[in-house]
Amino acid sequence: MDRLTDELDEIQSGIRIIAVTKNVGADRTEEAIRAGIRHIGENRAEGLIEKRGKIDADVSWHFIGSLQSRKVKDVIHLIDFLHSLDRKSLAKEIQKRAERPVNCFVQVNVSGEQSKHGLAPEAVIPFIKELEAYDKIRVIGLMTMAPNTDDEQKIRQTFAGLKKLQLEVASLGLPYAPCTECSMGMSNDYRIAAEEGATFVRIGTALVGSESEA
Ligand SMILES: *Cc1c(COP(=O)(O)O)cnc(C)c1O
Repeated sequence: MDRLTDELDEIQSGIRIIAVTKNVGADRTEEAIRAGIRHIGENRAEGLIEKRGKIDADVSWHFIGSLQSRKVKDVIHLIDFLHSLDRKSLAKEIQKRAERPVNCFVQVNVSGEQSKHGLAPEAVIPFIKELEAYDKIRVIGLMTMAPNTDDEQKIRQTFAGLKKLQLEVASLGLPYAPCTECSMGMSNDYRIAAEEGATFVRIGTALVGSESEA
């Protein structure tokens, strides 16, 4: 944890680390919190509900996986940040279920891979403009996943593309969409993400390990 913080600080200060705990249990998650982790990320409703039930700590909870509209009512009261807003129907359901504004990242498919969730880059600004009427949604930033490749140049281009778009949205000055944050970078590529302007990195294996594989 301290090593990771130092490493990121050398690249850019102020990057927040989300410990992705989807492959570990509540005990390991609590260990990470004792070691100083302040942000926890889960990608499935079941995992989030289980950990929220077992862990009582002063941390922020992030939902980082794709979210089915029918599960919104189960998770929306348990999270501080949603990283996967990618469609109008999901926005509508959040608007209906949330009791307070939710900090959302709009997920962007920068690399254009078929298998990836998220909006095409050119669809992002029109989508965000449509969210003005949704007072339960606060667009605090954009999120992306790097392509599955060893080609560092491709990964870097993806992150640089997200950063550019994030700054473009921020410059619109929309009160409900400050869009100051970039959620990008995982165990294999967080250094590149940090170099390209990440403000949140989402790190699982390299930080808390994976008990399912152990
Ligand atoms: C699992 C996951 C991560 C973390 O992956 P690692 O490679 O274990 O660091 C980050 N973001 C999302 C959306 C994930 O599903």
